[in-house]
Amino acid sequence: MDFDLSNINGFAEEISHAENLDELYTVKVKYMGKKGLISSLNKKMKDIPADKRADFGKKINEIRSEFETLYEKKEKILKAEQKKIQLKSESIDVTLPGFPFHPGSIHPITRVYDEIVDVFVSMGFEVATGPEAETDYYNFEALNIPKEHPARDMQDTFYISEDLLLRTHTSPVQVRTMEKNDPPVKIIAPGKVYRCDSDVTHTPMFHQVEGLLVDEDVTFGDLKGTLTLFVKRMFGSSVPVRFRPSFFPFTEPSAEVDMGCVICGGEGCRVCSHTGWLEILGCGMVDPEVFRYVEYDLEKYSGYAFGMGIERIAMLKYGIDDLRLFFENNLKFLKQF
Ligand SMILES: [Zn+2]
Repeated sequence: MDFDLSNINGFAEEISHAENLDELYTVKVKYMGKKGLISSLNKKMKDIPADKRADFGKKINEIRSEFETLYEKKEKILKAEQKKIQLKSESIDVTLPGFPFHPGSIHPITRVYDEIVDVFVSMGFEVATGPEAETDYYNFEALNIPKEHPARDMQDTFYISEDLLLRTHTSPVQVRTMEKNDPPVKIIAPGKVYRCDSDVTHTPMFHQVEGLLVDEDVTFGDLKGTLTLFVKRMFGSSVPVRFRPSFFPFTEPSAEVDMGCVICGGEGCRVCSHTGWLEILGCGMVDPEVFRYVEYDLEKYSGYAFGMGIERIAMLKYGIDDLRLFFENNLKFLKQF
């Protein structure tokens, strides 16, 4: 048999010289593609004398089989090499320094909130909570603020329906606690409250802490002692504290508590309106009318209540003059704490 197969003799060498899968594939196309050198041998079949066709066909199959064996072997090697290169390029140096990670910090309101709660808990007060969507009865009526009472105008209320509203203070928690418990009662009620108001010193949502103590023989002196201690624990033992007569519908007598201005030290500045004093909370002896609503024995018990805005305390503690900064989530502001 002497078929001229000289033009396909080179494939073994070409396969062995292929340096990557692309080059190897080019060799495959050259020989085994539709118009490839090996594939086109079939077309020559008709030129072969009939008695030699079987041998020729056998020969083509041998060549084809040899090509495929060599090709697969080489392909395996090249794929393994490629994988090695890929792994090397994707490897991670675990000894490199990591990306900087910024841990969060506690929001100034939360910080002051916790601090206030800690001071009162250390004096034996328990923490009580209640719903933020409150009924008119608990928010106003049971606190001696009946409908048409002018004191309702002091608080711009968000009404949900005629009888349901967003609580304007945490005082409803005091009523709910007294309904469920007989004296002695000694609680603070911290939480969110809502008023339809927004400017430099007001936000629609803010935080309050209110306190209530009911027992036998509670006097205004007890109230003064407790709140004076509280102010000194929050702002330092040297800060002066004074009580001024005031009015609240649910306490009688009522007072507002001032402390010496922490900005100017009492000399007078813009923050204290040049008075040397800063108002920080309201308080008073619980009005007997409130006890009547919860059916406490008026002859036997007396009590005091107080309330303060947590934002106000935080502003004075950190010297912040715009309340809205607390709620804008500006990282530059928050990172200072
Ligand atoms: Zn001042």
